[in-house]
Amino acid sequence: MGTEFEAVIGLEIHAQLLTASKIFCGCSAAFGADPNTHICPVCIGLPGALPILNRAAVDHAIRAALALGCTVQERSIFARKHYFYPDLPKGYQISQYELPLATLGLVEFPSAGETRRVGITRVHMEEDAGKSLHDGFVDSDRKTYVDYNRSGVPLIEIVSEPDLRSAPDAAEFFSRLRAILVWLGVNDGNMDEGSLRCDANVSVRPRGTAALGTKAEVKNLNSFRFLQRALEYEIERQIGVLTDGGRVVQETRLWDAAAGRTISMRSKEEAHDYRYFPEPDLPPVLVDAERIARIRVAMPELPDARRRRFVDAFGLPDYDAGQLTQSRGLADYFEATVQAGAPPKASSNWIMGELARSLNEHGADIASSPLEAQRLAGLIALVEKGTISGSMAKDVFEKMYASNRTADAIVAAEGLAQIDDEAQIAGMVADVLAAHPDAVAQYRGGKTSTFGFFVGKVMKAAAGRANPKRVNELLKKALDG
Ligand SMILES: [Zn+2]
Repeated sequence: MGTEFEAVIGLEIHAQLLTASKIFCGCSAAFGADPNTHICPVCIGLPGALPILNRAAVDHAIRAALALGCTVQERSIFARKHYFYPDLPKGYQISQYELPLATLGLVEFPSAGETRRVGITRVHMEEDAGKSLHDGFVDSDRKTYVDYNRSGVPLIEIVSEPDLRSAPDAAEFFSRLRAILVWLGVNDGNMDEGSLRCDANVSVRPRGTAALGTKAEVKNLNSFRFLQRALEYEIERQIGVLTDGGRVVQETRLWDAAAGRTISMRSKEEAHDYRYFPEPDLPPVLVDAERIARIRVAMPELPDARRRRFVDAFGLPDYDAGQLTQSRGLADYFEATVQAGAPPKASSNWIMGELARSLNEHGADIASSPLEAQRLAGLIALVEKGTISGSMAKDVFEKMYASNRTADAIVAAEGLAQIDDEAQIAGMVADVLAAHPDAVAQYRGGKTSTFGFFVGKVMKAAAGRANPKRVNELLKKALDG
């Protein structure tokens, strides 16, 4: 019998902090400008230019660290990390090394009926490098251009402990981190634009042993699916190497999405290759307890806490609470609907049903929803009171979504209110029975399956507005005597 292996995975996630300006200069940090228009002597590393730390970037980094359960260090220092690359004009990146901003956090999430606990080793601040442009120019076959707009954009790097054991868990962990960062407003979660990127360290070892195997680092995984597929491939590859009696080499690998495999990029640098030393142009970052406390108090309720409160305070099922806390906007919308008087479960059903479907169809999200929570609550109130039926409410919903009108206004203007008046419905029943004497005779002769035919005729006479329960009662009474 062959050896059974297990994977050991840790992630390093780079998240761009949502600040207006860069981390050490006043240049705009916005994405998408013409190349090399957001640059100055500081961020392109001209000799003599001096960095000044962006306070808002530090506040964002503290928010993220607190949300990940980390201890924020009152004193941390920036260091120079040296390497040569065309997108790094200074020849070094300002990062944090020995004394990072925050350490020792924990993220928990459910997986396969168990709770996974992943330690956060550290959260540190650093600047981003520029970007090499390899295609899109007439001479791209011979030349590479460089855009320095991204150079000096503020990042945090979140390093996890090697606590993950499977590719799906790693993808789920990354997805949780993204949700938290976006929820806090410290990152826009836009992986296509590179504002959130993931590197994965992965090794395998015989199950039941404690020593770590030799790891490979897979770089620049910019989607949850790529992360999962790259890890699945890499785990199988390493198990294959070991099973064949080979040795896994410590190296940096790239995910080739088209080929569905990882490929070797270079042998992995050790930390000492970077010649780290403290950045002489920046003083230590001092964050006092009062500043940390102020930021902590002003933080929004986090997704997990809010999900639990939705279950406890509103009696929602776990599933609903989980869906509604996928984003802060969605959770806020739900609470606003309830605040406007709608019952929690009915609100949840409408938001996850009709509203989610319509937003999806129009390529919109909750923040750009044309239907405010108060108007949705107005519609739900009409259904609760029995003024309109559930199916009619869906039509009214469509009209509300497409216009600025309230449910009350639409129901009044279009005469949609449900007919529930006994005498009025009894009159329609009598007319239908009088118009179809043969069918009535068949029914009374025992062919009770024609009942649905009468219901249809009465509903048609009422233009679909009669209360179906009342129609059933009165028809039964008239036919059965
Ligand atoms: Zn600049």
